[in-house]
Amino acid sequence: MSLRAKLVAYIIGAVAVIQLCWGLSVVRSDAALLEMEAERRSRAILHAVAAPAAIHMANRDFSDLDSILDVYAKKSTGELAFRSIAVLDTNAIVVAHTDPREYGRTLTDPFVMRAMNTQRSISEAVETKRGRVVRFSMPVTSGLRWGTIVAETSMYGLDDRVVQNQLIVLLSTLLIAVSTAILIWAMLNRMVFGPLEAFAAVSKKLAGGRYDARVQVPDTNDELAVLGTTLNDMATHIQTHADRLEAQVRTRTRDFKQANEALGKANRELANAVEELARLARTDGLTQLNNHRTFHERIKAEVKRSERSNSPLTLLMIDVDHFKLYNDAHGHPAGDKVLLRVAQMMQDTLRTTDVIARYGGEEFAVLLVDTPLSFGARVADKLRTAIRGAEFVGAAESQPRGRLTISVGMAGWPMHGKTDLALIEAADKALYEAKRAGRDQVKLYGGEL
Ligand code: GH3
Ligand code: MG
Ligand code: MG
Repeated sequence: MSLRAKLVAYIIGAVAVIQLCWGLSVVRSDAALLEMEAERRSRAILHAVAAPAAIHMANRDFSDLDSILDVYAKKSTGELAFRSIAVLDTNAIVVAHTDPREYGRTLTDPFVMRAMNTQRSISEAVETKRGRVVRFSMPVTSGLRWGTIVAETSMYGLDDRVVQNQLIVLLSTLLIAVSTAILIWAMLNRMVFGPLEAFAAVSKKLAGGRYDARVQVPDTNDELAVLGTTLNDMATHIQTHADRLEAQVRTRTRDFKQANEALGKANRELANAVEELARLARTDGLTQLNNHRTFHERIKAEVKRSERSNSPLTLLMIDVDHFKLYNDAHGHPAGDKVLLRVAQMMQDTLRTTDVIARYGGEEFAVLLVDTPLSFGARVADKLRTAIRGAEFVGAAESQPRGRLTISVGMAGWPMHGKTDLALIEAADKALYEAKRAGRDQVKLYGGEL
């Protein structure tokens, strides 16, 4: 139930209750007044009847009494209407009556008995089918008690008027309550609910994140105006705050992005450095060939692979002949240049799938993958003749044969060594044999091909 509906219900209820209470109390006091007035007038009439009645009864002449009763009965009109007036003697026998058929009857009901035994005028209300009837009594005296007058007054008119008044009160209550409610509703709408609804709509927008929403502050200089101003101030605060936060988030996001990019760059550099380090750890610094350690890893792996695929391997161990003489004659740097050139020539002569390494000092190792000894021997000799055919600065002076030469020891997998180490040992032995046999030659482990 909305605030508006609740208020209207309360107002209608309160106005109706107040109006009803007030109206009913007015009707009730009005009815009481009317009844008192009717009673007073009834008694006055009976009092007026009592005097002539006493004279007639004292004279035992009842003939004129009826006409007197009629005259007084007719005097009562409107709300006060006598239904009957009876004059009883001391034995409660009717001696005069507005209805002639009642003559001579003896009345015995309790009200008549009470009336006969008292010197006062008494009354009693009786409910009949048609409505309320009030009975009055008046003693007839003039020194002696001659009798009693009993009159019945119908209150129908009076009661009808009370009912009518109640109806009017009810209807006017309803009318006043409804019109008051409409008036108050219209006023509240204009002064309270209109602004309140606008405030509620703006509050909703603010709650939904639309911080630019503002209310139109009523120029009423009251609590609603204060509320409106406060709401707008609050919205401004929130907006400022939200803007600042947003700017902060933007800055932080940008910083974060930059930091992320820097981190990414550093990461890439680190990865490159690690890669370079790994490469350096695997290669020989002078010739850029595989180093000793890498060669051992590769030959191990290739032997394993050949075990699976059953393809042959040929290993060449190569050593530069009388290199000490070259170094001694031309210096170490010149020796380095020779080693570099020999490495270059090996790379040019061999396939990329072959594993070439600087095994140590002036010693090289070449693993020819998927290569039988017959083909390996041709490769070895090609290498040997290529080097001995090449011109090396100063070789003519320092080398015993006037040329730079190499010796090659050759061994084949699996016949000369089933493991990598056994194969290397076999090739080493063959190299030793080549040296012993005079250098500048290729020797196969265990003899000729
Ligand atoms: P052999 O025919 O018996 O192999 O005789 P050799 O003189 O070559 O053998 P030796 O083992 O007596 O000497 C090897 C020489 O190789 C010794 C050293 O001066 C040289 N050597 C080893 N490593 C390097 C290097 O990296 N650079 C240079 N310039 N010389 C090296
Ligand atoms: Mg040597
Ligand atoms: Mg050597």
